[in-house]
Amino acid sequence: MSEQETVQQTALAYQCPEDALRDRVILVTGAGDGIGRAVSLALAEHGATVILLGRTQEKLTAVYDRIVENGGPEPAMAPVNLEVVTPANCEELADMFAREFGRLDGLLHNASLLGDITPLEQYDHGTWDSVMQVNVQATFYLTRALIPLLRQSADASVLFTSSSVGRKGRAFWGAYAVSKFATEGLMQVLADEEENISSIRANSINPCATRTAMRNRAYPGEDPETLPAPEDIVAPYLYLLGPDSQHVNGMALNAQERK
Ligand code: NDP
Repeated sequence: MSEQETVQQTALAYQCPEDALRDRVILVTGAGDGIGRAVSLALAEHGATVILLGRTQEKLTAVYDRIVENGGPEPAMAPVNLEVVTPANCEELADMFAREFGRLDGLLHNASLLGDITPLEQYDHGTWDSVMQVNVQATFYLTRALIPLLRQSADASVLFTSSSVGRKGRAFWGAYAVSKFATEGLMQVLADEEENISSIRANSINPCATRTAMRNRAYPGEDPETLPAPEDIVAPYLYLLGPDSQHVNGMALNAQERK
């Protein structure tokens, strides 16, 4: 088995020890819904202090309340619309987190826009720009601004969210597919830069087909009940954002067994 296959199997089979993430501060983007929400709840359940970043305050508050109800560490909320966020905004956020927490042990880039499923010839320019802004530009701005804070951690994990169409192009997936290829590129560049010189590692995860609003928009004819729920796929996220994957860097992994 290759190293990649071994890590993949470990991630899929991972059973996170109860307090494995205690004292870790982890930022999740798109934390209000779908996979980001489920991962945020699971991270807190295992002891992490989660910074919930998303664009809809009510959704963030609902996740915040659920974590507190469940007895998890008090989270923080960062209501941010990544479609309009600037590098300066990200620097301000980093300063705020530095004052509050002093370091960052994990960063899950999960928020994304789907855009249109349509041929390139007809792809709307504005939609293209919005998808690239949320999925690529904002991911870079946030990563860049947060690197100094990640360096303050003894073991920091940056996890980028990819997709099957970010590993092999597919007709009609337009800006979304291109943005996910860029996401893989960003992950590889960061992983290579940090290899052997710092405590920061970077990997990507493809959640694979999961029952969320985005999936339903992309595949309106599909019965959502045939898909795993976001709660069912959190184990590899816990592995990759936690201390047990400290040696894993630069890998493109999946959150489900590929059929
Ligand atoms: P959802 O659409 O269900 O959730 C996405 C989250 O991102 C939402 O909370 C949303 O906020 C937030 N978000 C979107 N745009 C912005 C923005 N401009 N600023 C801040 N937050 C924003 O998607 P999924 O949970 O399905 O997807 C999570 C990740 O997994 C994405 O990166 C997606 O590409 C990837 N993925 C998903 C698959 C699937 O089958 N579900 C398959 C492959 C990849 P709000 O709630 O306010 O809308």
